[in-house]
Amino acid sequence: MRTLIRTLVVAAGVALALARPQGFAPVRVVTTTEDLASLAREVGGDRVVVDALAKGYQDPHFVDAKPSFILLVSRADLLIVVGRELELGWLPPLINNSRNAKIQPGAAGYLDASQTVKILEIPTGQITRAMGDVHPSGNPHYWLDPDNGRRMAGAIRDKLSQLAPADAAFFAQRYADFDRRLGEAQKRWDATLAPYKGTKVVTYHRSWPNFMDRFGLQVIGYVEPKPGIPPSPSHTLDLIAEMKRLGVKIIVVEPYWSLKTPQSIASQTGSEVLVLAPSVGGTKEASDYIQLFEYDVKLLAASLKRATGK
Ligand SMILES: [Zn+2]
Repeated sequence: MRTLIRTLVVAAGVALALARPQGFAPVRVVTTTEDLASLAREVGGDRVVVDALAKGYQDPHFVDAKPSFILLVSRADLLIVVGRELELGWLPPLINNSRNAKIQPGAAGYLDASQTVKILEIPTGQITRAMGDVHPSGNPHYWLDPDNGRRMAGAIRDKLSQLAPADAAFFAQRYADFDRRLGEAQKRWDATLAPYKGTKVVTYHRSWPNFMDRFGLQVIGYVEPKPGIPPSPSHTLDLIAEMKRLGVKIIVVEPYWSLKTPQSIASQTGSEVLVLAPSVGGTKEASDYIQLFEYDVKLLAASLKRATGK
C-alpha cells in the first residue's frame, strides 16, 4: 500500500512537472464575454486562469459594470475584447479605472478578437449615433460563425504565445485539438441544417447574420426597427405584413428580450418564437463554444422541421 501511494505521488509529481514548467505562473486572462472565455480556456488549458465579465444571458451591449470587474481587470495579464464597439457602453471606464498598463488598448496584453475574423454589415456612408445604431463598425456578433471562432482561437493562441513564449508549443497543440473537434462538429451541424437552406426567418436583434449566413438561412426582418431601438407599433405592423407575404414561420429571440412583441407577432402570423442562446452561458446547456452551437443547431433544426415539414 505504501509503495502504491509512493508510486502515485511520484506519478502525480511527474504529471505536474509535465503540465507546469518550473516557476509557473498562469497567464491571468479577463474576457468581456463568455464566448471569448471559452475559447481562451480551449487554447490556454491549465496555463491560464480565465474570468469573463458579461454573462452569456446578458445583452452584451449593455452590461452593468460591477465593482468586482475593476479588480479583475486591474490584475489581468491579458484582456480579450469582442471589439467593433460591442462593449463601448461599459468597457472603456473599466479599462481606465483599472490603472493596469498591461491591458490598455495597444499594449501587449490587449487583444481585440475582431481583427482576424469575417465581419458582416460594415456600414457605408455617414453613420451617426443619432440613428440609434449600436453596430456602427459592422456587426459585432461575429462569434456566431464557427469559422470565426476558429480564427478567434488562432488569435488567442498567437497572443498567449507572445505573452508566455515557453508555452507556445502547448498552446499550438491545444489549438490544433480544438480545431479538429470544431471541424468534426461543423460537419454534423452543416448536415443537420442542410435540408432547410434558403428558409426565411426573422430575428429580434441583429445578432445572427454570421450564424444564418453560415448555415444558409435568410434573415428577412427584425423585431427591432434598428439595432438597439425597441419595437415600435408601425415597424411591427410592417414586419407582420412582410412575414405573411413571405410565409415566415420562425422568430428567433435572444434570452434577454421581453417575449411580448415577438409573441404578438407570432400569433398574428402563425409563426413560432424560438429563444436561442447567442452566447456561451446564454443557457445552461451552452456550457462552452462547441456546446453553444450544439444547442442552437438542435433547437433551430427542430423548429425548421415543424415550420417546413421537411
Ligand atoms: Zn448587437
